[in-house]
Amino acid sequence: MQPRDLSAHDEYVAGRGIEEVARELGREPDEFVKLASNENALGPSPAAVAAIRERAETVHSYPKASHADLAERLADEWDVTPEQVWLANGGDGALDYLARAALDPGDAVLVPEPGFAYYPMSARYHHGTVRKYDLSKDDEFAQTAETVLSAYDGERIVYLTSPHNPTGSVVALEDVERIAAETDEETLVVVDEAYGEFADVDSAVEIVRERDDVAVLRTFSKAYGLAGLRLGYAVTPAEWADAYARVNTPFAASEIACRAGLAALEDDEHVAETIETVAWAREYLADAVEAPTYDSQGNFVLIEVGDASAVAEALKRKGIIVRDCTSFGLDDCIRVTCGTKPETRQAAEAINEVLADR
Ligand SMILES: *Cc1c(COP(=O)(O)O)cnc(C)c1O
Repeated sequence: MQPRDLSAHDEYVAGRGIEEVARELGREPDEFVKLASNENALGPSPAAVAAIRERAETVHSYPKASHADLAERLADEWDVTPEQVWLANGGDGALDYLARAALDPGDAVLVPEPGFAYYPMSARYHHGTVRKYDLSKDDEFAQTAETVLSAYDGERIVYLTSPHNPTGSVVALEDVERIAAETDEETLVVVDEAYGEFADVDSAVEIVRERDDVAVLRTFSKAYGLAGLRLGYAVTPAEWADAYARVNTPFAASEIACRAGLAALEDDEHVAETIETVAWAREYLADAVEAPTYDSQGNFVLIEVGDASAVAEALKRKGIIVRDCTSFGLDDCIRVTCGTKPETRQAAEAINEVLADR
C-alpha cells in the first residue's frame, strides 16, 4: 500500500549544518560560521544547560509536574490562564495544534508570500487548503491590514508573522486588531512572534486577552537559544481552553525541555545580552554591507545581492553559511543571521568581497 496522496505537500528544507558543508567541501567544521538558521549566536542560556544536566537523571518519568509548572509560569508572564498556554514540540508543534483545533477537512488558510514554509505544510497535514497574500518588495514588505484583508476570502486561519521571516518587517498591533475585527467571526488570526523578543512592538498577547479569535505563537528557539530542544507554545483565546487536551500529543514538551525552559525564563541576563548583540549586529550589517538591506526587527537581515544562489555559494567557500532566499521566492536576496560581533564583522567583510568580485 501507499500513504495518502501527499503530492501537494512540500518538504521542509532546513538550512544546512556546518558538518554537512565542511564534509562537502573537504574542510574542517571550525573553518565555518553558520548564519543560516536564525539560531542564537551566544548559545543557550547557561541556566538552561545546567537544568538539562541536572534533570538527565529523572527522564524515566513522564513530565507531568514540569509541564504544568511551565504552563503556569508562562501564564503568569502573559497574564492569561495556564489552559491558554499550549506547550508544544517547538513553535512548529504549536502551529500543528492550532491547525488541528481549527481546521475541518477542506478549510482554507491564508499565508504570507514570501513566508515561513511551515504554515502551508501544517495546514495541508490537517487536510486544509492554502491561499496566499503577497508582501511586496516595492513597499519594503510592509504588512498592513490592507495587504491582508484585500486577499482575505473567508479563510479559517490567517497567519501573520511579526517580525516576519525572512524580511524582518512587523505588523503593528492596530493592524492585527483590525484584521481580527474585519475577518469573519470564525476566522482565527495567528500572530507568529517567534522573533518577538527582538522587536520594538508589543506582543499581540494583549489582543488575545480581549478577543476570542487571535492566538500568538512564541518559541524558545531564537532569543533563548534552545532550538535543538524543541520548545514553543501558543497563547490561545480563553474560550479555546478545553481544546488543547483534545488535540495535543500527550506530554507535548519533554521533561528536559520544560525544565530547561523554566530555567531559561529566569535567566534575564542571557536574553538581554542576546537582544543587545542582535541589535548591534543588525545595525552593523546595514551599515557595513555594500548592498541594499531591509530594516529588520528580527535576529537576521535580508540583503539584496543579485544572484542569491551564486553569492551564497561563494560565501560558503569563504566559510560563511547564509540562507539563500530563492526558496522563499526571493532569488536576489540572502538572509544573514546576526552572529557574535566577530562573526558578524567577518560575514560583512566576506559579503563585500564576494560582491566586489562579481
Ligand atoms: C523559527 C520560527 C518558528 C518556530 O521555530 P521552532 O524552532 O519550531 O520553535 C516559527 N515561525 C517562524 C517564522 C520562525 O522563523
